[in-house]
Amino acid sequence: MNAPAIAPLDPALARAAADFPILARPVRKRRLVYLDNAATTQKPAAVIEAEATFYRESNANIHRGVHWLSQRATELYDAARERVQHFMHAARPEEIVFTRGTTEAINLVAQAWVRPRLGPGDEILVTCMEHHSNIVPWQLVCEQTGATLKVVPVDERGQLELEALDALLGPRTRLFAFTHVSNALGTVNPVAELVRRAHAVGALALVDGAQAVAHQAVDVQALGCDFYAFSGHKLYGPTGIGALYGRFELLDAMGPWQGGGDMIRTVRFEGSTWADVPQRFEAGTPNIAGAVGLAAAIDYIESVGLEAIAVHEHALLAHATEALGAVSGVRLIGTAAHKAGILSFLVEGIHPHDLGTILDVEGVAIRAGHHCAMPLMNRFGIPGTARASFALYNDEADIAALVAAVRKAQQLFRGEGR
Ligand code: PMP
Repeated sequence: MNAPAIAPLDPALARAAADFPILARPVRKRRLVYLDNAATTQKPAAVIEAEATFYRESNANIHRGVHWLSQRATELYDAARERVQHFMHAARPEEIVFTRGTTEAINLVAQAWVRPRLGPGDEILVTCMEHHSNIVPWQLVCEQTGATLKVVPVDERGQLELEALDALLGPRTRLFAFTHVSNALGTVNPVAELVRRAHAVGALALVDGAQAVAHQAVDVQALGCDFYAFSGHKLYGPTGIGALYGRFELLDAMGPWQGGGDMIRTVRFEGSTWADVPQRFEAGTPNIAGAVGLAAAIDYIESVGLEAIAVHEHALLAHATEALGAVSGVRLIGTAAHKAGILSFLVEGIHPHDLGTILDVEGVAIRAGHHCAMPLMNRFGIPGTARASFALYNDEADIAALVAAVRKAQQLFRGEGR
């Protein structure tokens, strides 16, 4: 195996694993090699502490509270929104709606923007590489409105077929919803170009950023998109918190989705009126501690530096692609020209689930299955893949452990080493 050595790690990154307490715990009496970061990332102590400190020192319900603690909690929640705003380079904090995550953010747009506006003859365009979260909400709203769902195909390498896009985008297209980075293949899509093409036919563009925000800087204004969704837990933040960015004019023109406390201005039995955005879309007590934790995660990521993270993860990807690709019987799925740190693969004669189980015994955590992208798996004629996905704390030793464990699985299946 002659994989190229990775360029010396950035000093901040070389120390990063120590920031994540869980990485120090052995799993099955072995060093934990955590390569399931596309499913969820581990949390640095700074995030764990931020949530715990909130509960210890500042916990109260937000808004309308006359007492000191409630005002303190409200300030922290509002500050978290501004933190996300600056991270996404949104023009104003009102453009950030806190949600449970990417899935809820997409459903919000489906129900609050699409549902009242689209009807028979209208089209929503998605791509073949979408996560179910960016397919099913549109299927539901198509059933509700009579609109039609169209799909941009993907080529053998796992890239969008951009020539087909021209034929699919047309005057009937009202929304083009696509992923920034494919969770199953790692393909990075040309977001600004796709947004430009959607706008050229008068359609809006929604970007699923679940797999992008932790790995590269995102500037929603530079991308030009209308909506951008992401989850905190894939960004070293807590579960149960995420955000929808929406252009102010669009959010402001949208009616509410869920009803309840906090999203109203007045309530009468004859009819109610709605709060301004973003509160209009945040019915009920939100995940206040989660928002505080998300802000801490953004602080952490920015202290390490997104540029350094991107360079490091690309080096890991290049190294792993070469090292795993050199193992006979390994087939890489997804070889796009532009990829993020996700490596999907098959090992001849071993079902991905069996492979995942054997790797687990070796202390290597990967994911096996369809990765919530069944249409994409069908496109490749496979039931699923094994997937290793990288984060800022992974290193060469993790890749060596992955490759060694794959070789061990092959030996076991050949009947050697029993
Ligand atoms: N889109 C993509 C591309 C994803 O990878 C995921 C999570 N695997 C989601 C959407 C859904 O994210 P969540 O479950 O946090 O809502």
